[in-house]
Amino acid sequence: MSLSPIADAAARRRTFAIISHPDAGKTTLTEKLLLFGGAIHLAGEVKAKGERRRARSDWMKIEQQRGISVTTSVMTFEYGGCTFNLLDTPGHEDFSEDTYRTLTAVDSAIMVLDAAKGIEPQTLKLFEVCRLRDIPIMTFINKLDREAKDPIELLDEIHDRLALDVAPMNWPIGMGQNFRGVFDLASRNVVLLTEGGGQGSEEVVPERSSSLGERVPASQLEELHEQLALVEGALPSFDLESYREGHLTPVFFGSALKNFGVRALLDGLGAYAPSPRPQPADQRTVEPGEDKVTGFVFKVQANMDPKHRDRVAFLRLCSGRFQRGMKLNMVRHGKPIAISSPIFFFAREREIAEEAFPGDIIGVPNHGQLRVGDTLSEGEPIRFTGIPNFAPEILMRVRLGDPMRAKHLKAALEDLAEEGVTQVFRPMIGAEWVVGVVGQLQLDVLKTRLDAEYNLPIDFESAPYITARWCDADDAKELDRFVQAKKASLASDRDGNPVYLARNNWDLNRVQEDFPKIRFTATRERH
Ligand code: GDP
Repeated sequence: MSLSPIADAAARRRTFAIISHPDAGKTTLTEKLLLFGGAIHLAGEVKAKGERRRARSDWMKIEQQRGISVTTSVMTFEYGGCTFNLLDTPGHEDFSEDTYRTLTAVDSAIMVLDAAKGIEPQTLKLFEVCRLRDIPIMTFINKLDREAKDPIELLDEIHDRLALDVAPMNWPIGMGQNFRGVFDLASRNVVLLTEGGGQGSEEVVPERSSSLGERVPASQLEELHEQLALVEGALPSFDLESYREGHLTPVFFGSALKNFGVRALLDGLGAYAPSPRPQPADQRTVEPGEDKVTGFVFKVQANMDPKHRDRVAFLRLCSGRFQRGMKLNMVRHGKPIAISSPIFFFAREREIAEEAFPGDIIGVPNHGQLRVGDTLSEGEPIRFTGIPNFAPEILMRVRLGDPMRAKHLKAALEDLAEEGVTQVFRPMIGAEWVVGVVGQLQLDVLKTRLDAEYNLPIDFESAPYITARWCDADDAKELDRFVQAKKASLASDRDGNPVYLARNNWDLNRVQEDFPKIRFTATRERH
């Protein structure tokens, strides 16, 4: 059966993100992946390009002061007959709710671990967001050229802490100074690390080749065979279905810095990672091969002159063939918007897109009409689901300099919350707004924008809460009883839903035990 042109283009898309803890090697791996795609020619260009872009987006002083960019970039490259869209997940200081929301727009993820550190806190947080959506994950264990944990121990750690089956795709031969390369389990070849950098740091030698003994010390080959006997006996081999369902992660060992093992990872992504999945919407599920264009906004970025209120909405296409100049319906308002100058995100330059397919991301310049979670549709007024708000990890009270302007503050906070900059909560008792964010940067953005765009200088004051949970119950009376009993710890979100503000983990566990009929959830669909 031959596919329609749209379905065929969709089948060749791999839209993915890299999840990792800062310093595990995400940037280095990104550079190397882009090298394979021919998108950039010099290692180091990913960061260098970030600097240039930063210089251009001068509206926000904090970007320069802190030396970070709020830009989530989308990098597109071609390799082996596939189009790869790599969505950057801001880490370090620019970790934010956008980092989580980016994961709602990908079909798979690569988890990068530092071989000396294993699973670190931010890896775990991002993994949990992937699990919410059953996003399949490939694992890259990086920095084998340094002293590392025992590989078997690393696999155990993934298995035990993430409750995932692990299937090694290759196996390291030595580590640190003695890192020789890997054994590829499927081809039974040894891939040796050779010096030279660039794309020439790998040499394939068949397992039976006589030259192997000359290249790798006998003790290391012996150790390899012992370990292989152990892991091949004890661990499952790679199973496509189990990976696609999010139960099993294939594991690749390598060194991003030495561009070793990156090709195997990319080949694995091309061969096994899912192409755009059918996307759930309120009325039905949308297939990528459908003729009519649909997509959803997972991020809105305001990085231009505050006086002009220009925004770029990041639209993940879910179906159809998008063409420049198209009019799409903004479902929330039922109004058409013409997309005359969409942005395509190539690694080298931003380019004007002529056409784009399911799985691709386009930037839609707008003046604030588009919000996170919005659906754009060429045809029927469906709304995509699964672009939620995530439970805040930092909660702050907002202190307004001029109390006479409380009404303005309310309007401004609601505006910015709707855009996805922050979440706002109104405590049921007390008059001060509480804002909730996932990363510190969001607070800085909020403060800067309230001042620059709304002329509302504010300060933050710490609030005694560690997180929030949305509360819901099947029985309205139960919910009411709960609200009456717990008013002092409750707030309303911008849609008026009750939210429990937890003072600590003990408090959160306790309230869940005391009110078993109430559902406490860490995500909430945006409306
Ligand atoms: P990110 O914070 O995850 O983006 O990490 P980076 O890619 O910036 O890497 C953090 C540091 O680890 C940098 O100094 C890199 O040069 C180094 N690094 C990354 N990959 C490797 C590797 O495979 N081997 C070694 N030895 N160092 C690496």
